[in-house]
Amino acid sequence: MSDVSLKKTVALIAHDGKKTALVSFVETHRSWFEQFHLVGTGTTGGRIAALGLSVECLASGPLGGDAQIAARITEGFVHAVIFFRDPMGKHPHEPDINMLLRQCDVHSIPLATNVSTAHLLVGSHGFGSSPS
Ligand code: PGA
Repeated sequence: MSDVSLKKTVALIAHDGKKTALVSFVETHRSWFEQFHLVGTGTTGGRIAALGLSVECLASGPLGGDAQIAARITEGFVHAVIFFRDPMGKHPHEPDINMLLRQCDVHSIPLATNVSTAHLLVGSHGFGSSPS
């Protein structure tokens, strides 16, 4: 978490059926993402890192990565979440996912769960790069 105090942190998560969509979204908006400290669940983070972006990779989602991101939200270290969920899939770590979503609401953290909302976040003037 080296540059956490200098930049806002954006968390990236995608279920398997949505990983390609997230990678493509990040690639398209690369310069926006480069402003932030990026943190991701293990597999998602690895896919984003393969684009050449710097990403802090946590545990894979089913092994607790979503719970780690939820804890960071609680601690004030995550400022936005882009979580491309697969509404057609069943996930063994559903309780962790729900905890993450709940923590976003508890702490009023912007949360984009699909590409349309992610576009709104990336185009928003209300979300700057430095923590305030
Ligand atoms: P993954 O986890 O990036 O390690 O696949 C995402 C998830 O399933 O929540």
